[in-house]
Amino acid sequence: MHYNTIIVGGGPAGLFTAQALAKKQKRVLLLERNKGAGKKLLISGAGQCNFTHAGDIEDFFNCYDDKAKFLKKALLAFDNKKTMRFFEEAGVAYTVFPNNKVFPKSMKSVDILNALLVQCQKSNVEMIYNELVNQISVYDKVFTVETATGKRYFSDQVVIATGGKSYAHMGSDGTGYLLAKHLGHRIIEPRPALTDVRLDENTFKVLSGVSVKQIEVTIWREQKKIQNYVGDLLFTHKGLSGPAIINSSRWMKSGDALQVNFLYPKSYENIKAYFASEVAKRGKEEIITFLKQFELPRTLYQALCQRISLDEHTTCAELSKKQREALVDQLTRCPFTIASLGGFHIAMVTAGGVHLKEVNPTTMESRKQKGLYFVGEVLDIDGDTGGYNIQAAFSTAALCADSIMQNKK
Ligand SMILES: Cc1cc2nc3c(=O)[nH]c(=O)nc-3n(C[C@H](O)[C@H](O)[C@H](O)COP(=O)(O)OP(=O)(O)OC[C@H]3O[C@@H](n4cnc5c(N)ncnc54)[C@H](O)[C@@H]3O)c2cc1C
Repeated sequence: MHYNTIIVGGGPAGLFTAQALAKKQKRVLLLERNKGAGKKLLISGAGQCNFTHAGDIEDFFNCYDDKAKFLKKALLAFDNKKTMRFFEEAGVAYTVFPNNKVFPKSMKSVDILNALLVQCQKSNVEMIYNELVNQISVYDKVFTVETATGKRYFSDQVVIATGGKSYAHMGSDGTGYLLAKHLGHRIIEPRPALTDVRLDENTFKVLSGVSVKQIEVTIWREQKKIQNYVGDLLFTHKGLSGPAIINSSRWMKSGDALQVNFLYPKSYENIKAYFASEVAKRGKEEIITFLKQFELPRTLYQALCQRISLDEHTTCAELSKKQREALVDQLTRCPFTIASLGGFHIAMVTAGGVHLKEVNPTTMESRKQKGLYFVGEVLDIDGDTGGYNIQAAFSTAALCADSIMQNKK
């Protein structure tokens, strides 16, 4: 039972590492706790699998916050074009959406999973399912990998590809962090990311299902601006969602204040000046009619008016300066307080994980333990929605496999 490399976890990162490595190494073993591989991959992109993003790879560097610096080498070594070519050569045609999201042409994630499994099979990866790894130790350059069934496997290298902590029922429940910790690694506290926001306030419940294009959301904590993000917003029955919220959730905490500019790119000052000059000219026009020009949903105007106790049928002439400015405030700096963030059970990815300072970004090898590697979401990396997370899994996997093979030369 001595292997060249043992890979723990059969998600996109583990499968990609396994098939790439086994093309050169004789004995590659993949251990997966579930009865099959890629359970989370199958539900990705609502079962359609947005497996990467088209366009220039340089654009990817804006999609992983400050973790992009770590990922740069991996993304450049195995970029989005290589991913598309890999699947095309494996017989999976793909389609690029107008927003540059890339999906299998069939719109079935199972095609992506099957392509990876076929490549693993072709290169003779040994796969064992229903094997939950619960301990990894190393003595005299030999790794011992122990599982919950009481088995022990030995290898020269170990790759931890156990994913994050979200959607734990898919298999990635954070046990990978314990394995890494036991091997001397620090773990940045895992947090749900790519998730929605819950509000205590009920005013916007009636807007559930309504979306607003290209808003700007700014996150504030203790009067300090944390981050701002531009994208589409969706009202839900519990609060806020949509790409602008989901993608910026990695910076949010319960209790943070959000400011939403529904009229982005116009600023508070722009709109304040515009209202000051225009409202006066519209005399008998009701405020709800005046607002129509901004092309936002009527229900949103109604909720905003209700919030400042302004009757929507008030005429422009009747609108006081105070009311006018309060309305401008609601339109361009609309305040919300985060009651809570959607938990791990609905977060698409996990922020936090294996500390990046302790992993070499040019090889994915641990700086603490020679022969130990980390790939995919178990690392402290999380990307925006749009295919960036699965691409990160493939890129880190490809770089890891490459560097293991280089080391062995
Ligand atoms: C609902 C949803 C939709 C998503 N949609 C997209 C999308 O369209 N595009 C995108 O880019 N990203 C998407 N993601 C994120 C993406 O799925 C993950 O980032 C990606 O799967 C991470 O790959 P991974 O291989 O690192 O981890 P995982 O896919 O989580 O795989 C880890 C594997 O390791 C196994 N494992 C864990 N611990 C052990 C252990 N101790 N022993 C043995 N096996 C173990 C698990 O069972 C699992 O199979 C989505 C996520 C969710 C939840």
